[in-house]
Amino acid sequence: MNIKEIDNQYVLPTYARADVEFVSGKNATLFDSEGKKYIDFTSGIGVVSVGHANERVAKALCEQVASLTHTSNLYYIAPQALAAQKVVEASGYDMQCFFGNSGAEANEGAIKIARKHGERDGEIKRYKIITLNHSFHGRTITTVKATGQESMHNYFGPFPDGFVYAEDIDEIESLLDDHTAGVMIELIQGEGGVEPQNKEKVQQVAKLLKEREIPLIVDEVQTGAYRIGEFTASQAYEIEPEIITLAKGVGGGVPVGIVMTTLKHVLQAGDHGSTFGGNYLSSHAVCEVVDILNEKKQSGDLEITSLMFNQALEKFYEAYQDTFTQKVGIGMMCGLRVKDGDTLTNIINLARQNGVMVLKAGRNTLRFLPPLTITKEEIDEGFSALNSAMSQL
Ligand SMILES: *Cc1c(COP(=O)(O)O)cnc(C)c1O
Repeated sequence: MNIKEIDNQYVLPTYARADVEFVSGKNATLFDSEGKKYIDFTSGIGVVSVGHANERVAKALCEQVASLTHTSNLYYIAPQALAAQKVVEASGYDMQCFFGNSGAEANEGAIKIARKHGERDGEIKRYKIITLNHSFHGRTITTVKATGQESMHNYFGPFPDGFVYAEDIDEIESLLDDHTAGVMIELIQGEGGVEPQNKEKVQQVAKLLKEREIPLIVDEVQTGAYRIGEFTASQAYEIEPEIITLAKGVGGGVPVGIVMTTLKHVLQAGDHGSTFGGNYLSSHAVCEVVDILNEKKQSGDLEITSLMFNQALEKFYEAYQDTFTQKVGIGMMCGLRVKDGDTLTNIINLARQNGVMVLKAGRNTLRFLPPLTITKEEIDEGFSALNSAMSQL
């Protein structure tokens, strides 16, 4: 049996997989089982922020697994403490971290902090969490309920109570009441369709929430780890949230989820935990990834890469004005609105056949999340493959 047959027989069919199996990679370049080369404009959905098979990350992880991988959170774990320090310092916020294993788990932690904070603050029990329409916060029972997409609430109920959806950022204020424990937003909706929030409006909401002493939770699972140019999008939006969640790109491919918060005394020993969270392996990955990205930020490389990518994308966008209606996004989280969903699906399939991987977001957005280390050559090669795909549309 080949891999496809084994997968079909033994793996639950929760993914509609494309007909390709990658076997190796280097930076933004991937090779499939037939030796065909691809340029990766997806970085595994925003995960391999420092590229595939990054030498520094590989070396750090090899050394780590050769000494210790896991001991449990019953004991001190040096890489965990150091990863927390690096993440907090890169953010510039006065926060502490909790380590889990995924974006959804980070958001679960964020909701637990907001709810416990709401419970001990005053006589009225605050439990409601306001999220936005078209948001995406994860796949656990709680985070799927936090996700503002009706279609994702079809099965799996009954769900936990207390999730309220605002149509848009303007509607948040009218939904606040004495039971509101927190407001959770993405500054740029990712899965929802690469939809940046208006900076002034976000700042107004952040200010309002501070006045009402309601924690603002920013889900930075996709926007964090320098995806849009600053370590967190919250820094770029010049706000000071009480809670930020990170995952995807911060581990560079090793599963990790982080909740960071200014609310340092809400969770006490025993309130929350994770067996794997923050172990030697994933924490060491975070340390190395954050070091690499900090250096790229400080040297100016990150900005140059982002400019190069966006110039190439702009040129591509302008060449196909009959297919694309708008260029959207910030930094290296970008997209092109496509006139219709069928065309979008065709583009993604043709792109793959021509040797470049791209993503879908929302109903009609072609999404680009390249590794932050992508080279000029890889950018050119990727867009050249995309041009070939467009000529076959
Ligand atoms: C991907 C994503 C999640 C879920 O992360 P998992 O690691 O798949 O649990 C949550 N929020 C946002 C904004 C995401 O992009």
